Amino acid sequence: QAKLKTKAKDPYPDWKAGTPVPYAALCTTFSLIELTTKRLEITEHCALFLRQVLRLTPDDFLPTVLLMINKLAPDYAGIELGIGESLIMKAIGETTGRSLQVIKADQKEIGDLGLVAVKSRSTQPTMFKPKPLTVRGVHKGLMEVATVTGNGAQGRKVDLIKKLLSSADSHSIGKIDIYQDKGGPSEAKFIVRFLEGKLRLGLAEKTVLVSIAQAVVCHEAEQEGKVPSTTQMEEGEAVLKTVYSELPSWDVIVPAMVSNGIMKLGEACKLQPGVPLKPMLAKPTKAITEVLDRFENQAFTCEYKYDGERAQIHYVAKDHADEYVNALPGATKEAAKGVASIFSRNSEDLSKKYPDILAKLHTWVKEGTKSFVLDCETVAWDVNEKKVLPFQQLMTRKKKDVKLQDVKVKVCVFAFDLLFLNGEPVVKKSLRERRELLHDAFVPVEGEFAFATHMNGQEIDEIQTFLDESVKASCEGLMVKMLDGTESGYEPSKRSRNWLKIKKDYLAGVGDSLDLVVLGAYYGKGKRTSVYGAFLLACYNNKTDTYETVCNIGTGFSEQVLEDLHKQLSEITIDRPKPFYSHSSGGQHQPDVWFEPRYVWEVKTADLTLSPRYKAGAKEGVDPSGEKGISLRFPRFIKIRDDKKPDEATSSRQVAEMYRKQEAVTKNKGPSADDD
Ligand code: ATP
Repeated sequence: QAKLKTKAKDPYPDWKAGTPVPYAALCTTFSLIELTTKRLEITEHCALFLRQVLRLTPDDFLPTVLLMINKLAPDYAGIELGIGESLIMKAIGETTGRSLQVIKADQKEIGDLGLVAVKSRSTQPTMFKPKPLTVRGVHKGLMEVATVTGNGAQGRKVDLIKKLLSSADSHSIGKIDIYQDKGGPSEAKFIVRFLEGKLRLGLAEKTVLVSIAQAVVCHEAEQEGKVPSTTQMEEGEAVLKTVYSELPSWDVIVPAMVSNGIMKLGEACKLQPGVPLKPMLAKPTKAITEVLDRFENQAFTCEYKYDGERAQIHYVAKDHADEYVNALPGATKEAAKGVASIFSRNSEDLSKKYPDILAKLHTWVKEGTKSFVLDCETVAWDVNEKKVLPFQQLMTRKKKDVKLQDVKVKVCVFAFDLLFLNGEPVVKKSLRERRELLHDAFVPVEGEFAFATHMNGQEIDEIQTFLDESVKASCEGLMVKMLDGTESGYEPSKRSRNWLKIKKDYLAGVGDSLDLVVLGAYYGKGKRTSVYGAFLLACYNNKTDTYETVCNIGTGFSEQVLEDLHKQLSEITIDRPKPFYSHSSGGQHQPDVWFEPRYVWEVKTADLTLSPRYKAGAKEGVDPSGEKGISLRFPRFIKIRDDKKPDEATSSRQVAEMYRKQEAVTKNKGPSADDD
């Protein structure tokens, strides 16, 4: 460790106070991170580098953080690179004078386009020396790639990538031996990996957050000639975690932190309309008795679990519009009487999907309600029968550029939580208080806006009856929530024990459905020869940033769905599995085609079992030998989860939890059944 640090010391003599951060310096840190898998070392490398940025070039702190987390802007800004493997290969080929065929062959052999870019460069003599890349320059260049639109956009994207690649690796640093086996601290490698959406450093956003906190606390102490205490480090981290969970936008947080310091960040950066927060999520349960065990002597409340699309509605009345963070692209849309946006579970902007909600919003608001953030479910609504329609109806609605006059599937908004009201976050208040505020601030309008139906009874029979009623009302089941005390506060981005879900179809079989990523497919047989007949699915291991296979699935698809899936998936085939796919290597278990990890499907299963063929949760201690993974028996396709990204799929840990729960239930039931 010490050796690494001395070797990496200041290899960039021309990075002086006030000059832009050399991109090569960031890549050196990436390369150091690549040499270790230890979380603490990774955090330390990151923190050391960020401290240096703060010391020398604080203006570049934001782009440095963004490049570390492989993002150009917050999710809700809707900025996507919009390029696939083939465009990147084209750019590498054209920059280095190698044919596309050779690049493709290399990619097939190496499996990492970043390393292909490195290999391509080393054979190319440098004719002239371009200006070295800087962190802010690379961020700007990548942003240009993302924002090119219109005719010939693809070609212009390739040109912009070429511009970046041809300036890569021109910084005058000496050869540093420790990197040799990894191909050197190559700028081309990390630009290409950024474009692919995976830096492959095991550098999750959470780790970067901890490094940021450490860097800022150390830097602030250093300026006062002090060394920070462990308590200060922990406090800094806690402050940043809380602030980020309420206001997940580095674009807003970083400037405030650099100018106000980290300890006062909580005062400067609070939840605010315009910046969507990651929603609170629920834990699955299998039986009402499990709910009663969990809440024991604490008051709880039950709500219908509506089956639609989650929507976070942000609103500021016109006369208070300056409270809205609207400097960010795509974040705001004009509603009739104020500024408002609707965000998905993923923080994507849904405003263009629901102009009908935006147009009516102000009529649901009582006088005196000037700004709010609501947590709701939008559900398809039968205007004639005046009732909720199944989820499938909602899915037939267009996703973008919906014109008000063309809306065919009407939606009703069911509000179940209030996170911000009249200039103040209310997430820390108890659920009982939040609900009261919610009911006081809005007026229900039939078929447009309603409060989630709830019931505060604590008896098993009452809950059973309420569950039955929810099912009759076309709901998925119940949400059961802690009602009083600090524990009942709203916990952004957390799958919390304070929110439990009981789905009607849980009550037998495995508790919850799973959301899995499609990694591969098998050609169909018989009637299904022109489409894929079965698919290989995986869960996501968020500790190792890998996809672990969990089952093959061929049930639950209609012919039309199979055709649609074939069309959609053919566009993202790749020649070989990505190195971060974990699947058994035996030949007979390999799918016919592999895909980019892009689509998430909801799947149900009869039960879970151990199998040497799959890798899900193998490292979670479910199998003592560590060889077998968990697999689904009789999996059945339910629907595509457009609102989930692959890294939001069910995690390996959750699969392991489900398996353990099932095992516990089977064991408990086993002997008593035998006893009879
Ligand atoms: P699911 O597949 O069950 O929707 P999920 O991972 O999207 O899973 P969960 O935390 O498991 O989310 O379930 C909560 C979801 O249920 C919310 O995301 C929301 O969309 C929906 N929902 C419907 N009614 C309610 C309610 N009354 N309170 C909270 N969430 C509700």
